[in-house]
Amino acid sequence: MSETLSPDELLRYSRHLLIPAVGESGQIRLKNASVLLIGTGALGSPAALYLAASGVGRLGLVDADVVDASNLQRQILHGESWIGKPKLDSAAARLREVNPHVRIELHPVRFAPDNALEIAGSYDVLVDGSDNFPTRFLTNDTAFFLRKPLVYGAIHRFEGQSGVFAPHLGGPCYRCLLPRMPAPGSVPSCQEAGVLGVLPGIIGSIQAMETLKLILEIGTVPLGRLTVYDALQSTFRSLKLNRDPHCRLCGDHPEIHGVSNTETTSASTCASPHEDMESITTTELRKLLATDYQGLLIDVREENEHAAACIPQARLIPLARLPDCLDSLPRDREILVHCKAGGRSARAVGVLLVHGFTRVKNVAGGMDAWLKEESLK
Ligand SMILES: [Zn+2]
Repeated sequence: MSETLSPDELLRYSRHLLIPAVGESGQIRLKNASVLLIGTGALGSPAALYLAASGVGRLGLVDADVVDASNLQRQILHGESWIGKPKLDSAAARLREVNPHVRIELHPVRFAPDNALEIAGSYDVLVDGSDNFPTRFLTNDTAFFLRKPLVYGAIHRFEGQSGVFAPHLGGPCYRCLLPRMPAPGSVPSCQEAGVLGVLPGIIGSIQAMETLKLILEIGTVPLGRLTVYDALQSTFRSLKLNRDPHCRLCGDHPEIHGVSNTETTSASTCASPHEDMESITTTELRKLLATDYQGLLIDVREENEHAAACIPQARLIPLARLPDCLDSLPRDREILVHCKAGGRSARAVGVLLVHGFTRVKNVAGGMDAWLKEESLK
């Protein structure tokens, strides 16, 4: 436990020391803190760089992969000369260059049920930089049982999301957001779906920021809130997320009692959650609406988008307002949700599922698919 900063550290962290909410005591707090990054890929790279630069005293890195040329478009910890070599060696070299005061601890293994608790046990905060559902669920369960905050991040093409899961401090866990692991192959992986290189830089940096806030105990920890960034629309949204009393992990009657019970089915992905949801095509929707459809169709786009073009039967509830409108929605009828292309509606379906609506479907392809179909008529 350090109680002072060296002259070199005082100089290095001088811009932190100027901030009253940080100051020397905050910097010492960072120096005595430890963070485990699960994954040193797209999200882990920016998170690790900023956490090291900020002076977090102990940084643990878990990764068993080697650097591939296709990683370099977004995994900014790694460079050309490290292709074919272990990511952790590359990461350690880079982070030591950034800040030699930080102790870098390497765990060159796959994060697995048989090592998760032991690896994570000695760190204060866990940062999820994983790119597949089994690891993400395992990370969530590990954090839950160790009663440590989990700083979550996920990316998909132009959209990213972040949040902090810490049921011991209040709020939901990741399983409240996504109760079941998607079936293998049901969700496109980063390899299949792609991701614009800058996006993980933004989300990973938010993860680093939330981590610093947790350590410094400043600001508001976004417990029960998911921050969703849409790069194409240049918007940040904050979605409310309640703890699910039926959650198998943190609910009132838990069914999961240890990390070894974590499902091990594999569905590699970097995508947003909720993609195990049921969906309906616009063709099916058209047929349904031509009948005496008793369900509710919701448009979660913004007012201006709805005004420009809409499906007449749809009720407009912009995504950000959805959490406030839940009481007005029918629980005994089917609810279909659409947006422009299917991304926002997928999140809306997730919000509805979390709040106990069971008969909810996403309109795949959204308004884009609907209009395209119309133009082909
Ligand atoms: Zn939960």
